[in-house]
Amino acid sequence: MRTPIVELKSVGKSFRSADGSARSVLEGVNFTLKDGEIVALLGQSGSGKSTMLRIMAGLIPADSGDVLYRGLPLYGPADGISMVFQSFALFPWLTVQKNVELGLEAKGMPPAERAERAEQAIELIGLSGFDGALPRELSGGMRQRVGIARALVMEPEVLLMDEAFSALDVLTGERLREDILELWESGQISTKAILVVSHNIEEAVMMADRVLIFASDPGRVRDELSVTLARPREVESQGVRALIDNVYGLMTSGSMRPGRVTEKEVKLQLGDRLPEADSARMEGILELLGEEPFNGRADLPLLAEESDLNDHELLDVSRALTLLGFAHLERGDIILTPLGQQYIRTDNAARQATFGQQLLEHVPLVAYIRHGLEQDKSGDLHEDLFLKLLCFSLNEADARSALRVAIDWGRYGELFEYNFNTGVINLPEAVDAAVE
Ligand code: ADP
Ligand code: MG
Repeated sequence: MRTPIVELKSVGKSFRSADGSARSVLEGVNFTLKDGEIVALLGQSGSGKSTMLRIMAGLIPADSGDVLYRGLPLYGPADGISMVFQSFALFPWLTVQKNVELGLEAKGMPPAERAERAEQAIELIGLSGFDGALPRELSGGMRQRVGIARALVMEPEVLLMDEAFSALDVLTGERLREDILELWESGQISTKAILVVSHNIEEAVMMADRVLIFASDPGRVRDELSVTLARPREVESQGVRALIDNVYGLMTSGSMRPGRVTEKEVKLQLGDRLPEADSARMEGILELLGEEPFNGRADLPLLAEESDLNDHELLDVSRALTLLGFAHLERGDIILTPLGQQYIRTDNAARQATFGQQLLEHVPLVAYIRHGLEQDKSGDLHEDLFLKLLCFSLNEADARSALRVAIDWGRYGELFEYNFNTGVINLPEAVDAAVE
């Protein structure tokens, strides 16, 4: 067997959290990228996918394990590996041409040569005529084309794409994806292997020869699925739909804390991330699930279509519903529990009461906020207090997200109220009076 282009062996990485303690982000990550393949990596946000990519690109070191490039240990940024970021990361004051030339300039290539190489890359990615434009004059899709040209101009052996299509609208993302696949299939680019990080299941199945599923806390490769369908693939084809189903099944067969418990026994901790699902969306999906043709059980990809949510959003809603005991997941299907069945048959007031009860039982953060309010003399507390608490175990963005979700859920379940102007959380008035 040929040496893989890139190989990770038992790679581990921790970061310090706000309180100075180390938090393990990657543990025992094993991964190989071989000549001629496109691999997609799917996983929840925060599971360490970007960290793994940065380690592979030599941008940050691993704490433990081995990172090999062409069989040799990687000590710094690798020449043959280029990365495309979700944020495009262009320099706003530089023209398209100059943005694309940057990497070549850093390597000391003479101006005439790098101008020619940049022009070729710009043409390849379909931006001819825009060489002199500034990023702000371009649409999002075109900006990301610049991001890709900047990676391709380096003639990398390995292209790492970190959610490169996520910031684009669906159609623009699909167009760009198809263009890249065409460049790849036609051999117009030197790239020998591509790793695509995505949270879009369809994207992964449409592009990859192998789909890897990443587990969180700590991040590691949990499952692998090979895709043998010929390219170009047809989104609506039976083969693609079946694979998407399959991946949904794998992604939901774990849990919030994959590897340790099944979804039925998920127990959240106070400082855990919460799925990004607001109560309105959860209600919408519950309603939809109860109706024809689903009648309590739905295939997730089908439900995604019916509900106009993308895979990522639907998975978050499914996790939220599972967490609160309204549904459970089984091989890519979401199924209403008896509680969920009962829930959709009752009126709003009863629903909110049930929602509140389930929160107190299953979401420690919400219960903590509520108990805090009950114990506080004034019955109101500032959200920053809880944010600080969460920052001990989560980074600030994740902490804010968890708190936002907890507040939305708690308001819906009438456990507390929230003032959007002041950031103060307080007990609902009726309860306030009862406590006093
Ligand atoms: P993903 O790409 O899967 O969303 P990331 O690799 O970006 O996940 O992040 C994984 C975890 O590591 C997150 O909880 C994030 O907050 C944390 N993390 C990433 N980079 C750093 C850093 N430089 N310092 C501290 N924590 C970090
Ligand atoms: Mg990421």
